[in-house]
Amino acid sequence: MSEAPKPFSVMGLPVHLLDDYTNWLRSRLQKQKGTHVVTLNAEMVMQAKHDKALGEAIQQAELVVPDGSGVIFYLRLRNQQQQRCTGIGLAASLLETAGQLEASSPVCFYGGAPGMAKAAAKVWRQRVPGIAITTEHGYLSPKAEQEFRQTLAEQQPQLILVSLGVPRQELWIRENRWLCPQAIWMGVGGSFDIWAGVKPRAPLWLQKNHLEWLYRLYQEPWRWRRMLVLPQFALRALLQR
Ligand code: UDP
Repeated sequence: MSEAPKPFSVMGLPVHLLDDYTNWLRSRLQKQKGTHVVTLNAEMVMQAKHDKALGEAIQQAELVVPDGSGVIFYLRLRNQQQQRCTGIGLAASLLETAGQLEASSPVCFYGGAPGMAKAAAKVWRQRVPGIAITTEHGYLSPKAEQEFRQTLAEQQPQLILVSLGVPRQELWIRENRWLCPQAIWMGVGGSFDIWAGVKPRAPLWLQKNHLEWLYRLYQEPWRWRRMLVLPQFALRALLQR
């Protein structure tokens, strides 16, 4: 049950196809099988073509889920009827049962602007009785980051959510996961901002119609340059069939 399924290749990067990612990860969490979860989207696939370290981090992750609509589009073109699994949704389903974890400080939120992880943790403490979450923001000095790494090693949290943006979070996890070898480590992008209520998530009808990227562009127009790779991804997905 907790061995990773055979990956499907999306332009040379692995994506694991499962019906129920939450169940699979809960089982890993219970058995304390260290896991790096990557939530793959088309932007990351294109970025990994130039960023060797990002490509390696994705290759080495025990679980890569199809987060972006571009990846789903790629899979459907190849007759894989896979449902999308968003990083924020997957992290939320893990947190919903994290009140039952046994370590003294089982969950850690790391990253985001100062105060953001704290605000997100406050929301989760209200939602899940008994959940214990430690927090740290994502703009630490090298010395403070070293201290934070030491705290992680001492506390051995079981679920570590990292919000540093792509590719920083994937590279940070790859470099530091040995500190808590039995934990589930997951890069969650801007999820703390959303849980803290600072940024709204795209309306459901946009999510359902695979247009969440358009809403993000409307929210953060500076993303246009990063998003130029999306049509390139779509074209390759069509041509490489
Ligand atoms: N961030 C951080 N430290 C940094 C750079 C970024 O904590 O040095 C945080 C930033 O505050 C934001 C998150 O990383 O909350 C990145 O979110 P975004 O939605 O941009 O992630 P992406 O689109 O890259 O997945």
